Amino acid sequence: MSYVDEVYAKVVAKNPAEPEFHQAVKEFLDTVRPVIEKHEEEYRKVALLERLTEPERQIRFRVPWVDDNGQVQVNTGYRVQFNSAIGPYKGGLRFHPSVYFGIIKFLGFEQIFKNSLTGLPIGGGKGGSDFDPKGKSDREVMAFCQSFMTELYRHIGKDTDVPAGDIGVGGREIGFLYGQYKRITGLYEGVLTGKGLTYGGSLARTEATGYGLMYFTQELLKINGIDVAGKTAVVSGAGNVAIYAIQKAEELGMKVLTCSDSTGWVYDPDGIDVAALKEIKEVNRARLTEYKKYRPNSEYHEGRGVWTIKADFAFPCATQNELNLDDAKTLVANGVKAVCEGANMPTTLDATNYLKENGVIFGPAKAANAGGVATSALEMSQNSERLSWTFEEVDAKLKQIMINIVHNIDAAAKEYGKAGDYAAGANIAGFKKVADAMMAQGIV
Ligand code: NDP
Repeated sequence: MSYVDEVYAKVVAKNPAEPEFHQAVKEFLDTVRPVIEKHEEEYRKVALLERLTEPERQIRFRVPWVDDNGQVQVNTGYRVQFNSAIGPYKGGLRFHPSVYFGIIKFLGFEQIFKNSLTGLPIGGGKGGSDFDPKGKSDREVMAFCQSFMTELYRHIGKDTDVPAGDIGVGGREIGFLYGQYKRITGLYEGVLTGKGLTYGGSLARTEATGYGLMYFTQELLKINGIDVAGKTAVVSGAGNVAIYAIQKAEELGMKVLTCSDSTGWVYDPDGIDVAALKEIKEVNRARLTEYKKYRPNSEYHEGRGVWTIKADFAFPCATQNELNLDDAKTLVANGVKAVCEGANMPTTLDATNYLKENGVIFGPAKAANAGGVATSALEMSQNSERLSWTFEEVDAKLKQIMINIVHNIDAAAKEYGKAGDYAAGANIAGFKKVADAMMAQGIV
């Protein structure tokens, strides 16, 4: 058995019942195979892949809190500190009922290579809880966040591990978490990113993942001879990533026809109205059923269906495994030219392969959505020098980082005879830097 297959079998045996983690490792190992095979004996001797797939540290803790009825609730908190070879652990916190170690480990594993691709000194980590902020009062969310941080604070720090937001963790949650960290430690330091602008946050961090996705897409299509202006797009999700992806897509001249949340989806033939979407989701924290009130010409449908609408580009921006093989077939039949991932691992493996086999340009999450964490790293830099950069400065740096990522993954794919396979290019380019650092640092 090859070293790659041997390690994958060990990962599955060692981490039973964690299918999302297996999927992320498999997708990675399959695409970096040519690099591993070139160094097989050297890597095997130092168990490089075994160390890479085993988190440096996994923390699981109890989070008790009191709800508005005086009832005590108990959730589970997680932080996986996956790899610190190239910098302090960095990666978001997800609050969603589906959270368990398998989800956090898949996200933490992907984060290692994504962070490497940004070119900035950040290692990989991820965390969260099975707590669901939906339908909770602000006081309940605060009580939960304070209890969560009362345990987490001892494991994080500005030079060791710097969490950020993810699904269910936005500005409100980061504020409560930061307040509690400061209260316990007495330290006013850049221990979290995605902070509010009045207490150390960076301009353009809120927009960064969605904007970055579009800067990435624009450059990727440019090197493939396609201009994004005047094209149509379908987007899933209606959260942080989706909203700012839609906003930037429209600024770049695309017409975005759809968005969705966990209960339904919207088709707006005139192009999604971002101001309405922001009011519904960011201000009122309401459902997409409200959208029709702002745009009578639009349609609302229960369930899922954004991938059935014909468009030039598709941008999954909601959650993992939301674009499956049937969806990929529909998109291809409708003539889609490119799929770029705003969410983490939104496309199933068989769907990814189908898209690639049918000539669809595929921008993988690790590269395409790296703008969020890259800007988080820029927030860390500003916190360290105790200065704030302008929106334009941060946005220009973000854009350049996304352009560099496109060229790096393109070059890495070509170097290993996989021209045009950007998923392979992203994994190879991300892996090589981390592997070199691990080799240099000895057996740790
Ligand atoms: P938000 O919580 O702001 O929004 C998530 C959106 O996806 C919401 O519209 C939500 O619907 C929908 N959604 C969530 N879970 C499901 C589900 N199981 N089925 C269907 N729809 C679902 O999260 P973000 O926008 O921050 O994150 C979206 C994706 O992007 C995630 O994969 C995240 O890991 C990834 N990402 C985020 C980054 C960031 O900077 N925020 C950076 C890089 C990646 P509803 O409103 O009904 O809950």
